[in-house]
Amino acid sequence: MSLFTPEADPGRPYWWDDVHWPELDDTLPDAVDLLVIGAGYTGLSAAIAAHDAGAQVVVIDSGEPGQGASTRNGGMLGAHPRLGWDALAKRYGEKTADGLFTEAGEALSWVRSMIAAETIECDLEETGRLQLAYTSAQYETQKRMAAQVSEKGGVPCHILSRDEVGKEITTPLYKGGMLFPNHGALHPAKFLLGLLRAAMDRGITVLGHCPAIKLVDLKESVQVVTLRGKTAARKIVLATNGYTGVQFPWFMRRVFPVPSFLIATEPLPNDLIADLAPGRRMMVETRAQHSYFRISPDGARILFGGRAALVNIGLVKAATQLRESMVRIWPALSEAKLTHVWTGNTGYTFGHMPHVGQRGRVHYAMGYSGGGTVLAPWLGRKAVLDALGMPGRETAFSATQLTSRWYYKGGRPTFMDAANLWYRHVVDRREDRAHQRE
Ligand SMILES: Cc1cc2nc3c(=O)[nH]c(=O)nc-3n(C[C@H](O)[C@H](O)[C@H](O)COP(=O)(O)OP(=O)(O)OC[C@H]3O[C@@H](n4cnc5c(N)ncnc54)[C@H](O)[C@@H]3O)c2cc1C
Repeated sequence: MSLFTPEADPGRPYWWDDVHWPELDDTLPDAVDLLVIGAGYTGLSAAIAAHDAGAQVVVIDSGEPGQGASTRNGGMLGAHPRLGWDALAKRYGEKTADGLFTEAGEALSWVRSMIAAETIECDLEETGRLQLAYTSAQYETQKRMAAQVSEKGGVPCHILSRDEVGKEITTPLYKGGMLFPNHGALHPAKFLLGLLRAAMDRGITVLGHCPAIKLVDLKESVQVVTLRGKTAARKIVLATNGYTGVQFPWFMRRVFPVPSFLIATEPLPNDLIADLAPGRRMMVETRAQHSYFRISPDGARILFGGRAALVNIGLVKAATQLRESMVRIWPALSEAKLTHVWTGNTGYTFGHMPHVGQRGRVHYAMGYSGGGTVLAPWLGRKAVLDALGMPGRETAFSATQLTSRWYYKGGRPTFMDAANLWYRHVVDRREDRAHQRE
């Protein structure tokens, strides 16, 4: 059976079918108060905050705005820390761990109200997010984690038994689950477009196809050399996350790209979808291959993502692997064809936590390590408030750190080749054995 429908266009994100991009500016001013490099969620949110605080701001992107992860992601909305409170407290101290937990809830509420205030139509839904436990040990860990999230995070989080999970998703695969009822879903490209429009409606200059290629320190400013001319910026916000390049060697050694892949099925019958996922939640797995899946906003398709590999592999290979994982969960999809497969870079840090900080005149927010629909706009704003010395700039994410390793000099993270083999041949098999024994 062919994997794809005849009209499939591998590489093109499903989300791009629904949006029309506005005409952008084409002149880079000679001087600017604040230059934002990168026009994803981080950069556009930063630019809006800067404008609203009275700064003159320009945003540049090396390609089309949003061409990075911000129009390629799964559209799952939520921000609780991946690491448990204990691990965070051990690493950063109890106060910071508390802050990281509470800020995740605050950030989610803020993103929702910002979408409402800017009247962004992005298919926002309060679906809840269900994390599905593949092994009993992972289910036990979820029980501890759920108690911590409820106690420290100020966001509701419930444990679901195997039977309760069975009412949400029709598969025998999972031992139980953890539900974040107030997490949600959106259309990522419509969200990006809404932020872009909000920026342009304010008169903010946004330039595409304008890569920053060099920063030169001047006395009172930084000269930014781009392929479309030079500008002198009093401050810079760097918002390049998983697409950070050689122009920014310090950052490139600390935030490295890890690809994530997604597939979209062809439109499926309504009753089949209702049967497969009656809970209509955003769903993620506890397995190391980290499958995540959802129903498309129009209710017609399954979108299924995961780390088909921790390194770049061909799209057809990725689509084959993701489809196999999907059919293992839902054998009823064994005949379903795909219309889309695409990939994008998540920006990982060695500590698996994002960070907001400053190096000279460069302020930055990055390293969302697989999440980011909530934290990227939230921390982009924080980076700007910090750059301008404004109230509201405080964030627990300034206490995390961007660290590097002696073996990583930037560029392609070759150490991920070994990690990939380890996960595929050791961790995945260990999880499968534990799953089958139970
Ligand atoms: C496939 C996939 C699925 C995901 N799913 C989810 C999800 O369901 N939920 C969730 O919370 N998160 C998810 N994420 C993560 C989330 O999408 C990101 O964390 C978030 O979009 C980061 O936003 P950003 O603005 O920081 O970076 P990006 O959107 O990646 O933007 C960075 C921008 O910087 C530009 N740039 C780079 N270098 C330069 C330069 N030299 N000059 C000018 N511009 C430059 C790039 O062109 C790019 O547009 C997913 C990511 C991927 C890839």
